[in-house]
Amino acid sequence: MNVFNMPVSAIKGIGPKRAEAFKKLNINSVYDLINHFPFRYQDRSVFYDIENLGFVSECCVICTAVTSVKTIRPKKNIVISTCKMCDETGEIKVTWYNQPYISKAIFRGKEYVLFGKFQKKGNVTEILNPVIEKRENLGKFTGKIIPVYSLSSVVSQSTFMKTVETALEISEKLLVDSLPESVRNKYSIDDYFESVKQIHFPDDAAKLMRARERFLFEQFFLFFIAVEKIRNNSESCGIAFSSFNTAVFEENLPFALTNAQIKVINDIKSDIKSGKAVKRLIQGDVGSGKTVVAVEILLLSVLNGYQGVMMAPTEILATQHYQSVKKMLPDLRIELLTSSVSKKNKKEILDKLSSGEVDILLGTHAVIEDDVVFNKLGVVVCDEQHRFGVKQRQKLIEKGENPHLIVMTATPIPRTLSLILYGDLDVSIIDELPPGRKEISTYLVNESYRKRVYTFLKKHLDEGEQAYIVCPLVEESETLDLKDAKSFSEFVQSQIPEYKVGLLHGKQKDSEKNAIMDEFKHGDIRVLVSTTVIEVGVDVPNATIMIIENAERFGLSQIHQLRGRVGRGEKQSFCIMFGNTKNTDTLERLKVIEKSTDGFYISEQDLKMRGPGDFIGTRQSGIPALSSVDGENELKTVYKAKDAAKDYVNNNLEVSENECKYLEFLLKTKYFDEKTQNILN
Ligand code: ADP
Ligand code: MG
Repeated sequence: MNVFNMPVSAIKGIGPKRAEAFKKLNINSVYDLINHFPFRYQDRSVFYDIENLGFVSECCVICTAVTSVKTIRPKKNIVISTCKMCDETGEIKVTWYNQPYISKAIFRGKEYVLFGKFQKKGNVTEILNPVIEKRENLGKFTGKIIPVYSLSSVVSQSTFMKTVETALEISEKLLVDSLPESVRNKYSIDDYFESVKQIHFPDDAAKLMRARERFLFEQFFLFFIAVEKIRNNSESCGIAFSSFNTAVFEENLPFALTNAQIKVINDIKSDIKSGKAVKRLIQGDVGSGKTVVAVEILLLSVLNGYQGVMMAPTEILATQHYQSVKKMLPDLRIELLTSSVSKKNKKEILDKLSSGEVDILLGTHAVIEDDVVFNKLGVVVCDEQHRFGVKQRQKLIEKGENPHLIVMTATPIPRTLSLILYGDLDVSIIDELPPGRKEISTYLVNESYRKRVYTFLKKHLDEGEQAYIVCPLVEESETLDLKDAKSFSEFVQSQIPEYKVGLLHGKQKDSEKNAIMDEFKHGDIRVLVSTTVIEVGVDVPNATIMIIENAERFGLSQIHQLRGRVGRGEKQSFCIMFGNTKNTDTLERLKVIEKSTDGFYISEQDLKMRGPGDFIGTRQSGIPALSSVDGENELKTVYKAKDAAKDYVNNNLEVSENECKYLEFLLKTKYFDEKTQNILN
């Protein structure tokens, strides 16, 4: 028995019903459970006297109840309970809404620990619905850092905590460290068990930081080994093309190419002419016109008797590419492949693809499935692959015999990072926007502007324009006080009943997303409330307003991407950010967006202030977010991991056979997708 195949039901207290609930969270084994990290923490380790409360963040207070709990019922279904408590320095009023049982749980003269956000109203210090426990229980739910898990309401936080605790107890002896001892020693990284314990139940902030560093290191260590291996294996000799005449294509475009576009196209052509296999990253700000560059290279492939493929991260984007490529290349045979293509159509497309009757294939990740076989693949394009795309990229390349590769990203990546993340690629930058673009007017506002913003929105809708509203969450959350797209779309609809409001988010089926996007494109839906699914690539020129809710939750580069959804037509466009925070650092950060529209500048600022997480994908990776993460340090860890990976690949370190086996196993499952058997049995 090992932790990979030990079912969660092996843990005491987990019956079939609970196991079913865990399954919904994709947790089947004890290993899955232990690796479901908190996504954030609540620091309940800070104590203040009532007199010294700072009122900025949440904290604990130890105090004595000086009255019993008084309960009133002002309306049906509303119960308000209050009580006075004090310590030696002052007094507070504690209020609970709809917690009638509280009156039986609190006793006059007894000591309690309260945790929450204290407020000062006039002379009265008060707190609403605090976390409360008896003084003698201190340390159970207060007095320490508490993990907060993303659980989609299928299991409670406390049950989950208890289960993880038990799981850690029974698995201590079974867990294997994925990092070789020599690597940990040389780079001073904590061992796995200590780290996994601390990441769930940190003793203090410093230990939590170390644990987090370990997982960040591990993630990049594996990533860089994968990159090194790919680089060592890839051939430098490319497919030879003899025909380079794309003049007709360029003449037929509705616009003249910018100098930056021409330069990139020429760079790629001369790579091919010199006999090299093209491996190039094209970085260009939103709207800089990367698509047409890619299309011209795809055309080149077809002119030389080869096929081409372009993969995009979302169905919306793939469909959009399909439509525009068909327009640009009306004489070629172009097909679209996504998961929502019917079985029958799919078979037809695949048949034609393998017999060479398709020139260019566009699609989502569906194009890397095993049954997709090309006749003669010459050019591969990955669009918007600014996160970890090594595995998918590699799979697509392997569908041909060393085809030319172009990777495009609209998230301008600071130079320091692009070197380490895309070290295996040459880099071209499109640093010029097509002429005639209007600057998008950008405003950072607070709640007091909400009414005015809707009046403004309505005025523009009256003129026939369209708008996006982006929220950080899909559904309402118990643990986070943030706007969610679902309920917010209803609210917005109630504010503008005369216009149709649509809802778009990542949990919808692809077919549903497509239908909604179509309605928005055709102007039937006038306001689209969505999550960041619209972050990349979507092109609806009639949309002129972008409203971003809880802008404080987003990275600058992400906001810049979102903003790039407007400003695509003739009319003046606007981006309005609601920044729901008093934190001056955060406001300072958002002001960068207000002042600048230069994606590279913005990304440098983002890196400085928020660290590399947004660029390198750790924010999506399951490594918990911390408010106190320091970008410089995080970057240092990434560099350390890169050195360590080099050491490993060059056999500079002593690694035992078992350590090596396990590491290669992780690499395969994570990056090379081989159906490896569990080697740990
Ligand atoms: P991105 O680089 O963000 O992928 P796109 O390729 O989607 O940008 O291009 C954005 C818009 O600009 C498209 O509508 C495209 O047709 C247009 N466009 C591209 N190149 C030029 C150009 N040289 N002059 C004018 N418009 C252009
Ligand atoms: Mg694009």
